[in-house]
Amino acid sequence: MKSVLITGGAGFIGANFIDYFLKKYPNEYTLVNIDKLTYAGHLDHLNSVENNPNHIFVKGDICDKELIHSLFKKYQFSGIIHLAAESHVDNSISGPEIFTETNIKGTFNLIEAAKKLWIHEPFKIRPEFSEARFHHVSTDEVYGSLGATGFFTEETPYAPNSPYSSSKASSDFLVRAYHKTYGLNVTISNCSNNFGPKQHDEKLIPTIIRHILKNEPIPIYGDGKNIRDWLFVTDHCSAIDTIFHNGENGHTYNIGTKNEKTNLDLTHMICKICDEIKPSKHTYKELITFVKDRPGHDHRYAIDPKKIESQLKWAPTHHFEDQLKATVNYYIQKYS
Ligand code: NAD
Repeated sequence: MKSVLITGGAGFIGANFIDYFLKKYPNEYTLVNIDKLTYAGHLDHLNSVENNPNHIFVKGDICDKELIHSLFKKYQFSGIIHLAAESHVDNSISGPEIFTETNIKGTFNLIEAAKKLWIHEPFKIRPEFSEARFHHVSTDEVYGSLGATGFFTEETPYAPNSPYSSSKASSDFLVRAYHKTYGLNVTISNCSNNFGPKQHDEKLIPTIIRHILKNEPIPIYGDGKNIRDWLFVTDHCSAIDTIFHNGENGHTYNIGTKNEKTNLDLTHMICKICDEIKPSKHTYKELITFVKDRPGHDHRYAIDPKKIESQLKWAPTHHFEDQLKATVNYYIQKYS
């Protein structure tokens, strides 16, 4: 059995990933999952793997250097899939400091610990770690904002606009530098907006559904015309798995499904689903209320996934409308 460190595995994508990965590889990996259990992490997210001997949970902070180094010593990780982060743009505007701590310093601690374990000098990998890989999960927000046309590719220059995206961009650069300077085996993925079960209440889709269920105004920033490219979380998990196993050393892969929606269109779709599932006297669309825009709100994100599709033969397997319906049902159950 190989032991792999997962960070942030009690969060939205991390918990979905652990479930996906342990089902797919029941006999190959032990996953050691470190999570600080901030407001965004919940042990409930891990119910499906609670009794799985291949999942070891460690409550801890990736900024705790001694803890990280002791875990590397104890488990001799041959892989890392790094998801832990402060992840909410609005929080990064009101309180940016923790974003620099977790997203930058935390990533530094992890990659430094990997360097210490895996190589004895630059470009001299210890033979027992010849296959060891650091996969860093990042966001398309590092590329900034698009106008009406064009797509983010792996060559798009970085232009992060929020404290969140700039902290993620910094962490991407650290990971890249450890590849270029020390020869560490790394891959990076930059993906678009995820949706699915286990996402924190603060994010757009759970917020819309909560307000619908309470029959309260649904707050939409600005004019609702901002565009996001929606990716179902399990498709994201399969893309991470593909890159972790088959991606080329030192490469970045953009993950997206060419599924652009304005925030307003997405809200209309969710209202329509709720009109069918929980009919009320009025259509829920009437609850939509435009509120003061987020400062520095990026207009459009859109990923060109050609590289991962053509080089790694990855393709999403889930249908957007079906998964949106299933997701709405999940949150209706959760909030009822
Ligand atoms: P999330 O906020 O739901 O989960 C983050 C997890 O990290 C939580 O469980 C939290 O407790 C943990 N954590 C935070 N600080 C920590 C620390 N210092 N030490 C250990 N654990 C800590 O986030 P998510 O949506 O699951 O995102 C996971 C990763 O994917 C992040 O790196 C994020 O930047 C990236 N990403 C997310 C999206 C998206 O749409 N959700 C899109 C692109 C990229």
